[in-house]
Amino acid sequence: MRIIGGSCRIWLTALFVFLAAVLSQRAQAERTVTKLADGVYEIRHEPNGNTTVIIGDRQVFVVDTCFLPSAAREDIAQIRQWTDKPVSFVLNTHFHNDHNFGNRIYMDAFPAVTVIAHVETKKEMDLFGPGSARREEQSAIDYQKMLDSGKAPDGSALTDDDRAQLKKAIPRVLARSEELKAVTFQSATLTFDHDFMIDLGHREVQVKFLGRGNTGGDAVVYLPREQIVITGDLVVAPIPYIYDGYPTEWAQTLQNLAQLDADTIVPGHGPVMHDKAQMYLIRDFLQSAVEQMNVKLGQTSPAMFQTLDDVKGSVDLTAFRARFIGDDKDLGDAFDEASAHLVKVVFEEASLR
Ligand SMILES: [Zn+2]
Repeated sequence: MRIIGGSCRIWLTALFVFLAAVLSQRAQAERTVTKLADGVYEIRHEPNGNTTVIIGDRQVFVVDTCFLPSAAREDIAQIRQWTDKPVSFVLNTHFHNDHNFGNRIYMDAFPAVTVIAHVETKKEMDLFGPGSARREEQSAIDYQKMLDSGKAPDGSALTDDDRAQLKKAIPRVLARSEELKAVTFQSATLTFDHDFMIDLGHREVQVKFLGRGNTGGDAVVYLPREQIVITGDLVVAPIPYIYDGYPTEWAQTLQNLAQLDADTIVPGHGPVMHDKAQMYLIRDFLQSAVEQMNVKLGQTSPAMFQTLDDVKGSVDLTAFRARFIGDDKDLGDAFDEASAHLVKVVFEEASLR
């Protein structure tokens, strides 16, 4: 079975969820906290999204609330160790539920909290958030079907290792579903469409929409004094998640992001970065795919008259392979999947022209 290399889109497909389930097993031990500045912390919970905690003199601002209610509760307990100030603001960087299903837990703990998202993000959260538990349940059913048929969704035969992973994943996914079922999804309570600033008390937080990218409503959080930027899944390490989104605009949005004066970068997933290399690498990766696709379409005919199979061989992203995976051969499949998805998304984007 081809295992695809990303785990953000827990809500998406059985195959994808399969990997998320497998990764979550080892991820639980991978919760890590990194202090970024006095009163500013990143909490990583791979494979789910990063949470950033920003503490001011009066109030606390939390960026993304993770997926499982139990993880959000653990984060809140941690925040209470850091400060007795209330979490007054939660911001969801985008609609994928591994960044916002924890909203409800924050609202239960801090009833006055305002949950903020870009107007487009709220629309998608309203649509996809409430079905989260049902999708987990469906994943368990799909895994059982794979075991029963001996085949992966792409028709390939399961290996012994695949079987073992699926058998372990099913009870975990069902347990997750039970956990999610116990919580009513909480969407945003305040939307924005461009930018705004909040002073938490000697702590200025700027929230910006710099253009579409990973989704239609990606929010970026910038702390000008601390020179910290929190990117959501516009930037992810080691391999970007590209399962839909807007590649042409995404490259420009990353260019806009790179203009912010920051030396600490919190990606949507992955460790804190201290330079913009990954941001530029993703920008170049997106741009290269778009440019190669445009050359091919220009030489042949518009996308509406072609299929993905007609054109995908003309986009070669192998030059980026070593730059993304370095010496980690285990990331090779994830990179290949990301590349294949990028070409597909770029073609779909071109088809809309
Ligand atoms: Zn994510």
